[in-house]
Amino acid sequence: LRASAPQRFQSARLNDDTMSDEQTFIAIKPDGVQRGLIGPIISRFETRGYKLAAIKLISPSKEHLEKHYEDLSSKPFFPGLIKYMSSGPICAMVWEGRDAVKTGRALLGATNPLASAPGTIRGDYAIDIGRNICHGSDSIENAKKEIALWFKEGDIVEWKSAHHDWIYE
Ligand code: ADP
Repeated sequence: LRASAPQRFQSARLNDDTMSDEQTFIAIKPDGVQRGLIGPIISRFETRGYKLAAIKLISPSKEHLEKHYEDLSSKPFFPGLIKYMSSGPICAMVWEGRDAVKTGRALLGATNPLASAPGTIRGDYAIDIGRNICHGSDSIENAKKEIALWFKEGDIVEWKSAHHDWIYE
C-alpha cells in the first residue's frame, strides 16, 4: 500500500524508481465467478504486465458490501446492487503496476457494458449494467480505501516479478 511510509519504502526498494507500485482493487463479481471468467479476467491483467499482490474468494456480508458501495446508497438501484453482489462468491484482488488504477478501469471498460468497447472485459463478456461482472477502483484514494476494506495488511504480498525489467524500461 502506498498509504503507509514503510510500505512505500519497501516498494521503492523492490522497484527502484520506476513508480510501478501503484495498486488497485479489482473484484470479479458473482456473475463473473459463476460464468467461469476468473481465469480470463486474471489473464487480461497478467498479460498486460500487471502483478498480482493479493487474491481471495470471499462471500462478504451485506454490511461489508453496503460499506463498499456506501457512496451509492441513495441510488434507486442500490438494494438490487447489494442483492446481486451477495448472490455468490466474489474474487477479490489487488493488482499492482504503473497507472494500475486508471489502466485497470480501461481494461474493465465502461460501467454499462453496452457502452464498453470490444476488447475490454465488459465489452467482451457482458451486456447488462446490473450484471457487469467486475469492479475496479476509480481513483487512487478509493483504491486505498477498498484495499483496506477487503484485505488485511498481511494479505498484501510484496514480491518482484521476474518479468519486471522486461515490462518497465
Ligand atoms: P463502476 O462499477 O463502473 O465504478 P458505479 O460506481 O457507478 O460504476 O456503480 C457501481 C455498480 O453499480 C456498477 O458496476 C453496476 O454493477 C451497478 N450499477 C450502476 N448503475 C446502475 C444502474 N443504472 N442499474 C443497475 N445497476 C447499476
